[in-house]
Amino acid sequence: MTRQITVGNVKVGGGAPVSIQSMLNTKTTDVEGSLRQIKALYTAGCEIARLAVPDMDAAKGFAEIAKASPLPLVADIHFDYRLAIAAAEGGAAKIRINPGNIGGEERVKAVVDCCKEKHIPIRIGVNGGSLDKKLLEKYGHPTAEALVESAFSHLELLEKYGFYDTCVSMKSSNVPLMMAAYRLFASRSDYPLHIGVTETGTEYMGTVKSAMGIGGLLCMGIGDTMRVSLTADPVREVEVAKTILKAAGLRKSGVNIVSCPTCGRTRIDLIGLANRVEEALKDCKKNITVAVMGCIVNGPGEAREADVGIAGGDGCGVIFMKGELKEKVPYDALLPTLLSYIEAL
Ligand code: SF4
Repeated sequence: MTRQITVGNVKVGGGAPVSIQSMLNTKTTDVEGSLRQIKALYTAGCEIARLAVPDMDAAKGFAEIAKASPLPLVADIHFDYRLAIAAAEGGAAKIRINPGNIGGEERVKAVVDCCKEKHIPIRIGVNGGSLDKKLLEKYGHPTAEALVESAFSHLELLEKYGFYDTCVSMKSSNVPLMMAAYRLFASRSDYPLHIGVTETGTEYMGTVKSAMGIGGLLCMGIGDTMRVSLTADPVREVEVAKTILKAAGLRKSGVNIVSCPTCGRTRIDLIGLANRVEEALKDCKKNITVAVMGCIVNGPGEAREADVGIAGGDGCGVIFMKGELKEKVPYDALLPTLLSYIEAL
């Protein structure tokens, strides 16, 4: 088991539930706009939000935002250690740095001392795209070993100053590479891991890559907190993250929909129906499985495992509960009837 750190009111590692993070795409100087986005993320189920702090004006904005934020905030810092200190003093619940790019050791020590005093953890964010030159020369290109070596060298630097309240990420846009790096690191260390695939592309590609990379690691028991990166609204990142957690069996709340791919036996608009069922139940907090199946060949079988389900017929369908046939209904009445059964659960 990994050791545990605390980010605001969220425990990360040490057996705590895998938490969902996202990153704002507003300007940190835009306090109102940023708070609006944080609230949208919070409502969607985000648990930790990260903001870029590229200059002192942003650090001031960060402090204002932190005062009113319902979520613990992570300050994302590159190059200037003074920004990390300003963010820590301005209410950051965690600082994300790459110790390799914030100057000499004394600057790293200044950040460490400040975080220690404020009891704020640090995330070391190693990235395949910005690996140390020396490591690139040694390994030729970013490899899992190179990412892990980079993470350990940064950890050693923090440990030298007595700082252990750290979590680590080793992201890459290459899914097999990031998976190999996290696996290698997890076999050698108990520092908690922030997992993610970076620069994933558009929403569709990003969802596939994140489901593979993050979902794959979660199924191996690796990962303590996660961020899905999408070139899309950050709220979508949270929705995808929740779905990945659900698919990995790590979040039970909310509806699990199983639906068949349809085939030549399908006699109703099952694709449309499955989408309408998903939409109607997206805010339902009941921990249930709902089956939407095209026909009675596999329908009742799948529906037996489900709390409630539909199996399509010719222009109609039947409702099952735990495999037990309840009633036959015309196609148009299938959705409202299904919802009324769910309501009663
Ligand atoms: Fe085809 Fe029926 Fe299977 Fe759906 S459940 S894929 S309609 S056989």
